[in-house]
Amino acid sequence: MYYSGGNYEAFARPRKPKGVDEKSAYIVGAGLAGLAAAAFLVRDGQMDGRRITVFDAAKLAGGAMDGIKHSETGYRIRGDREQEDHMECLWDLMRSIPSIEVEGASVLDEFYWLNKEDPTYSLRRATRNRGEPIPMADKMTLSPQALRELATLAITRDEDLYDKRVSDVVGQEFLDSDFWLFFKTMFAMIPCHSALELKLYLNRFVHVISGMHDLSGITFTRYNQYESFIVPWVKWLEGHGVTFVYDTRVTDVLFDITAGRKVARRIEWLTAGKRGARDLTENDLVFMTIGSPVENSSRGDQHTPAKFDTEIREGSIWALWRNIAKQHPSFGRPDKFCTNIHDSTQMTATVTFGPGKVADYIQKISQRDPFVRNGHFFTGGNLTFRDSAWSISWNGERQPHFKAQRPDEVVSWIIGLFPDKPGNFVPKPMLECTGEEIAQEWLYHMGVPVAEIGKIAKSVSCNPCTLPFCVAFFLPRRAGDRPAVVPEHAVNFAFIGQFAETVRDCIYTTEYSVRTGMEAVHTLLDVQRGVPEVWGSKYDLRALISSAVVLRDGQALELPEPYRKLLDRTDIGDLVRQWGQLPGGDPTSISPEDRVLAERELGTLV
Ligand SMILES: Cc1cc2nc3c(=O)[nH]c(=O)nc-3n(C[C@H](O)[C@H](O)[C@H](O)COP(=O)(O)OP(=O)(O)OC[C@H]3O[C@@H](n4cnc5c(N)ncnc54)[C@H](O)[C@@H]3O)c2cc1C
Repeated sequence: MYYSGGNYEAFARPRKPKGVDEKSAYIVGAGLAGLAAAAFLVRDGQMDGRRITVFDAAKLAGGAMDGIKHSETGYRIRGDREQEDHMECLWDLMRSIPSIEVEGASVLDEFYWLNKEDPTYSLRRATRNRGEPIPMADKMTLSPQALRELATLAITRDEDLYDKRVSDVVGQEFLDSDFWLFFKTMFAMIPCHSALELKLYLNRFVHVISGMHDLSGITFTRYNQYESFIVPWVKWLEGHGVTFVYDTRVTDVLFDITAGRKVARRIEWLTAGKRGARDLTENDLVFMTIGSPVENSSRGDQHTPAKFDTEIREGSIWALWRNIAKQHPSFGRPDKFCTNIHDSTQMTATVTFGPGKVADYIQKISQRDPFVRNGHFFTGGNLTFRDSAWSISWNGERQPHFKAQRPDEVVSWIIGLFPDKPGNFVPKPMLECTGEEIAQEWLYHMGVPVAEIGKIAKSVSCNPCTLPFCVAFFLPRRAGDRPAVVPEHAVNFAFIGQFAETVRDCIYTTEYSVRTGMEAVHTLLDVQRGVPEVWGSKYDLRALISSAVVLRDGQALELPEPYRKLLDRTDIGDLVRQWGQLPGGDPTSISPEDRVLAERELGTLV
């Protein structure tokens, strides 16, 4: 497996890998990672789909990418997904999956056309004091000290951030800034999470920084991600003969391990309480999703809180990883991620409402009428209540959000980053609340008069969902906690999903799961085509300079005179001026003394 950029490899088709006709594949998990592994086996590996089996604990595919209408309680999504242009492996795959909406188009074509015609942007990214827009809503409000901390973190070596929290590397001024408000509610990260992950995000998403205050540049599907991505994807795989075995929990994978060779030799599972197993040969490839943000998620309804189920039982994805990890240190340390429930729990809720008071308040706050937005979003990404104790953000993406939705229904989604804290209106933790109580807290922050909250909350349907392991991947970690996608000396197996280690990319993204699936297939089959490298905006001076200006709230870069003179009449000086709003610059040439001084200081800085 190797990485490539540019379009030479992107458009090339690899030759059929040697020996692929003798191989079969067993995939654990039909979430994005497992579906990606299956799809790359078929497309790039040219494996006959009939030789591929995908096991999943649930009754349908998609994992975290869900969206369902329950007959009694209504619509439910556990999560909603912001995408962006540079999810290189995801889009590489989606160009090959036929759309089920637009004849002759791919899922990528459909998504691309949609987001070109209807680009996302928010008219109100955050509010405070029950509905007031935050002041300076387009500013990052990073103090000089906070800027220094951010810049230092972005270039700190990974090993110096092992096992550190965000709060270990930034101070209160940083955490009080609007940059952090936008960041934490865009990426669901809080101060107890991994400083290393924050650094990776800062580097991976340099090109996204300029749109953080209004979410321009973020893209969304037409419907929920189950209907827009998973349904066509599974249909394509089934069309290639891939077998899906649902309601089946893989409990263990056993390995023969000798010096220089690791071979998966048996896979064991439970289907509806009945044990099953298969012995494997070296021609049987095993792709294992280890860990999941939606493991043990529980659903409540308007009148019932969701259970908070944290037990790791046999057949759990964590129990599977534990069984695997026992067999070799290079298979990772699952307990690093699945034992700190307090810091990994988040909670979401799906709210459905009709025309009337809720819609009126939403229009007031989001600046768009949800009912005239047919086919369009009304928040344009997350809208955050700055002073919410639960740290609520919510959104209203393109409506209808479900194909089955009636014209008089709108579906919105809420997330709380601190669900164990009492609310500002409802005096108990979000985790203990019914849907109606969560709706009350939501309406309170929207500015609905207190006397009306109770009545209006009854008019919506709110389905809560607890996610005890939602951000387990954000827990502080060090090298070796996550196994490599293909560990050293592995002959016929790979780890995929959010807990497998690949370089430079960021977890809590759809791209990460797809990337691990692609890297796994390309490595095990030795596919002769590059895996697209992680987008390199951190190596692009233009992106770095313009994002620095945004982080400084538009303040032009102020270079001390010797540097300015040194940069004059150079390509770098022109770049800084063009992208960084450096003021004019004096074209007089630098004196020899100043040049020596500037070069010495610049060298020290670098
Ligand atoms: C609330 C929320 C918001 C998100 N927001 C964004 C966003 O804005 N942008 C973005 O890019 N990404 C976002 N994500 C992340 C993204 O959706 C996930 O990272 C991705 O879908 C994970 O895919 P996966 O295949 O790795 O894991 P999962 O989707 O979790 O799949 C794991 C699968 O394994 C199955 N399973 C469990 N145990 C077993 C077993 N023993 N045997 C067999 N099968 C088993 C499960 O049923 C599941 O289907 C969000 C996720 C959540 C939860």
